Amino acid sequence: RAKNGRGEHICYYQPGMDENARTRRQLATELRHAIERDEFHLVYQPQHAVQSGAVIGYEALLRWVHPKRGLVSPDEFIPIAEETGSIYAIGEWVLREAAREAAQWDPDLKIAVNLSPVQLQQADLVQTITDILVDAGLPPRRLELEITESAIIGDRTRALHLLRQIKALGVGIAMDDFGTGYSSLDTLQAFPFDKIKIDKSFVLKAVSNHQATAIVRAVLALGRSLEIPVLAEGVETEEQLAMLVREGCTEAQGYYYGRPRRLKPEQAPVVTEHG
Ligand code: C2E
Ligand code: MG
Ligand code: MG
Ligand code: MG
Repeated sequence: RAKNGRGEHICYYQPGMDENARTRRQLATELRHAIERDEFHLVYQPQHAVQSGAVIGYEALLRWVHPKRGLVSPDEFIPIAEETGSIYAIGEWVLREAAREAAQWDPDLKIAVNLSPVQLQQADLVQTITDILVDAGLPPRRLELEITESAIIGDRTRALHLLRQIKALGVGIAMDDFGTGYSSLDTLQAFPFDKIKIDKSFVLKAVSNHQATAIVRAVLALGRSLEIPVLAEGVETEEQLAMLVREGCTEAQGYYYGRPRRLKPEQAPVVTEHG
């Protein structure tokens, strides 16, 4: 405990407030300076066409190298950035950086960027995306934004309007982590998705677990009937890939193909076959 100028005790933490909460508060403060301190970078994970094995694009994934803690997982810091509002600046940094890099790549390659549900609340989001594409010289059709279904709970009319505006730019929209959370079939047919990403939890279990296989099969059938391409994430083994091929999956991503990695400018990706 510390004293302020008037001799009163200031409580920096409540007795009982756990380590966890203090860590989060500290990370929240440090996140506000992470951009200017150059602590973020992006790694890229390839997405493949299953039939040919060709790379069709890359997903940008954010990394924070904290000066003392080292690498902090986005699963830990993104929720904090969402709570404190830092996500607006961070999300814009990610988009700008990913667009700038992807503009150097083979023009057949897409770049997928995760968009936080909170970013959909940003009043000038559509204008921001437009400006970033123009500044980077990236054709809109090469950008795909990944959102989870939690982005469209709440004011669905507003969300639908916004996603339509984004689509009108020519930018694609993927539903990420499908099968977890609030997934409803109604959302898939009401919203203009260009891709469904089956959550990795099902793909990882699917070889050994019949329920998980049934879910993968059902999502693939759904994609076929709604005519929305389905990508399986979290493909780690040949067995998992074989199962996906058997079930008619056309696109996949995962450690089997490649881990997310940093790209140096001289390693700008070109379209290559896997294997
Ligand atoms: P996500 O968008 O669903 O990304 C997939 C996650 O699965 C990534 O974790 C990726 O590294 C991991 N992954 C890929 N292949 C495999 C595999 O074969 N096996 C396993 N076990 N995991 C695999 P990561 O990079 O830690 O990101 C976690 C989550 O953090 C992302 O899930 C996304 O929700 C969020 N995130 C990451 N970058 C950003 C960002 O720039 N903005 C926002 N808003 N969220 C981000
Ligand atoms: Mg994603
Ligand atoms: Mg995902
Ligand atoms: Mg996820």
